[in-house]
Amino acid sequence: MIIKKIKELTKEEEEKIINRNKANFEEILPTVMEILKDVKEKGDEALKYYTKKFDGVEIEDFKVTEEEIEEAYNSVDYKIIEAIEKAKENIYFFHKKQMEQIKDLNVKNNGIILGQVVRAIEKVGCYVPGGRAFYPSTVLMTTIPAKVAGCREIYITSPPTKEGKGNPATLIAGDIVGVSAIYKVGGVQAIGALAYGTETIPKVDIIVGPGNIYVTTAKKIVYGEVAIDFLAGPSEVLIIADETADSEFVALDFIAQAEHDPNASCIITTTSEKKAEEIKNKIFDEIEKAERKEIILKALEYSAILIGDLEECIEFSNKYAPEHLEILTKNPEEVLNKIKHAGSVFLGEYSPVPVGDYASGTNHVLPTSQFARMSSGLNVETFLKKITFQKLDKESLKNIADIVITLAEAEGLFGHAEAVRRRLK
Ligand code: NAD
Repeated sequence: MIIKKIKELTKEEEEKIINRNKANFEEILPTVMEILKDVKEKGDEALKYYTKKFDGVEIEDFKVTEEEIEEAYNSVDYKIIEAIEKAKENIYFFHKKQMEQIKDLNVKNNGIILGQVVRAIEKVGCYVPGGRAFYPSTVLMTTIPAKVAGCREIYITSPPTKEGKGNPATLIAGDIVGVSAIYKVGGVQAIGALAYGTETIPKVDIIVGPGNIYVTTAKKIVYGEVAIDFLAGPSEVLIIADETADSEFVALDFIAQAEHDPNASCIITTTSEKKAEEIKNKIFDEIEKAERKEIILKALEYSAILIGDLEECIEFSNKYAPEHLEILTKNPEEVLNKIKHAGSVFLGEYSPVPVGDYASGTNHVLPTSQFARMSSGLNVETFLKKITFQKLDKESLKNIADIVITLAEAEGLFGHAEAVRRRLK
């Protein structure tokens, strides 16, 4: 882990931090292409083959049945079911408010009526990861915005457990939101099934949701056949902490992020050298006690504690474009005003990232690896299209005809010009 003044970073050090552990798609491309080709050509047969190969189980029917969902309810602690219900309410609340901001448009310019109507994408595939752990929270985060947007069909695919079943909490979350179907299939084969369709899994219009490098590479390849949200890599946090920040809180949030994944990155930028030292010591104290110590230690590889004045910290954060940004300063809102790129921002010492990960209402599927420079996290607009329209009468057509005819003829498209000219005869 690099611990240094921002000003004193060498070019190589800065590049290592900014580039973090970005995915190397090329390396696994041939494997992914082969699986996708097989799924496209052989459908369910290929799904069975690869599920046996990668998940170690034989599955006859990938579609989760009513009985399996009932069984799931009987096997999960009621407290977890209640927590899923409560988180669902908050996620619905926030995404419904997002939806209220999206309006149709109807305006007039030069006598021409111009507008747009908003329509939902019809068929959605939500990938919910399930290799190393299971994520009912990701079920909520991917399906609820699609529900609020008004998508007609919402399907979940998620890898089976070692027993060839659906993870109970994942099934319950899907049932609570009310999706069209859940399929016990993961990895590249799931992405292929959603992109091309098989005998049991319908082809969708958009695939959303996070996953490992295989899933992400598959999403990259099928883009065009279907839409995708974006390519999400290992999780990250950048924390801006001034001298007022509580070092223990900063260290805990560092650990909370690092425990996600050995490839995660955690960057702390602080205005105080004393604070940097204190935070570093607290981080190493916490690592000793951590349950996922091995993962956290690996995640130190692409992590750093950097020191600079507040403007330098903000500038570095904008360069890094983090997935999660925590601002633990005297006036976090003032700092927020200067933030240009981030997936989701957490203001002040009582707003740790895990709250947004699970329950406050904002989405946890966010752009990583600097993609926050040009993309938002999952939100209702991910599932919406805007159809523009116009209406002219003879008078408004007459007023605009010269421009259209001149440009059409300049482009050699005489049919275009004639379609306007003939109407005005
Ligand atoms: P996963 O569901 O993404 O991948 C599991 C699948 O990978 C398996 O079913 C298998 O088909 C496939 N696979 C494994 N090894 C393979 C190989 N050698 N060749 C081809 N396919 C192979 O689950 P995961 O692996 O646990 O990864 C989940 C990722 O998603 C983690 O990095 C996690 O941090 C991330 N995640 C992100 C968010 C978020 O919102 N950003 C939320 C939850 C999880």
